[in-house]
Amino acid sequence: MAITKRVLVTGAGGFIGHHLVKRLKADNHWVRGVDLKMPEYESSPADEFEILDLRKFDNCLQATRGGLDQAYTLAADMGGIGYITTVLADISRNNILINAHMLEASRLNAVGRFLFSSSACVYAGYRQKSADVTALREEDAYPADPEPGYGWEKLFTEELCRYYRQDHGFETRIVRFHNVYGPLGTYEGGKEKAPAAISRKVALARDNGEIQVWGDGKQTRSFMYVDDCVEGLLRLMASDYREPLNLGTDRLITINGLVDLIAGIAGKRLVKKHDISKPQGVRGRNSDNTRLAQALGWAPSISLESGLQITYTWIESELRKVGRLPLKYSSLSAG
Ligand code: NAD
Repeated sequence: MAITKRVLVTGAGGFIGHHLVKRLKADNHWVRGVDLKMPEYESSPADEFEILDLRKFDNCLQATRGGLDQAYTLAADMGGIGYITTVLADISRNNILINAHMLEASRLNAVGRFLFSSSACVYAGYRQKSADVTALREEDAYPADPEPGYGWEKLFTEELCRYYRQDHGFETRIVRFHNVYGPLGTYEGGKEKAPAAISRKVALARDNGEIQVWGDGKQTRSFMYVDDCVEGLLRLMASDYREPLNLGTDRLITINGLVDLIAGIAGKRLVKKHDISKPQGVRGRNSDNTRLAQALGWAPSISLESGLQITYTWIESELRKVGRLPLKYSSLSAG
């Protein structure tokens, strides 16, 4: 049986952080969760859960106290494409404060290993201008041209992790997530991402009705189910790999294709109305998983079809729970 560790998860009230806490507890570790808020859709199984604003250094010292083996730092001000392309100053300032203070506090409190959650938004814009994009290798983040605000802040914190390793011998791991989706994540309000937003719209649409799609729908992405994400996080933390590493799938799909998949799961025929005034982000983005396979001897394996089935079913049931979905439409779900 694996040795029980003392683990901190920041962002434990958020989507990936909550799933990670559940897995760490299932694996029998001691877990402290920290966030500005508790998880929204179910309670946290963490041994301790502290509400702390990690933009403040003293709170970071408190979060990292007590002899921790590992810190997964997932706390961030973030959201979908509509949010990260319009809120630049606040996102950058909030996340730089969180990350700089968490690194220093973790070093001072001698945390054994520190994992920073970076993003595919660090990749250079000039490499993502075609929908038929070449999958991005880790070195393709340079020469730098990341997403304004959010992407620059992630790229700089990756560098900061490297400096802490070089100057202080502090053990850091860096993961670059590519579009993680699954149940128990935000599905409305402006911070939701494409799979959740589309699932909500499909669930609320009537059969043979319309669905609004941001952009022309021909933009492409790859999507990773949250259980694969958590598995990859645990493997990276346990590994000796210290450079930034992609964590995503390499199955490229258009947003139109994603809408069709989700509508199929719901058993609905929908007419897509494209709104090209809405932000759509880079034209194409995919993960090159060559290094992931080399470094971890593993790759995500959960299919988009089965992950979306679970996600759609959960969002539809949440909408029903809060009375947003008339009963007569709920019966149309295949989930
Ligand atoms: P999320 O928004 O669900 O979770 C982030 C959590 O951080 C939230 O619960 C939020 O309350 C918390 N937080 C924000 N500011 C804080 C503060 N000042 N102090 C303490 N907590 C604070 O997002 P997520 O999807 O779970 O993402 C987790 C991490 O993964 C983030 O760092 C994000 O940038 C990164 N990431 C996610 C994706 C994705 O597809 N979900 C893609 C790339 C990168």
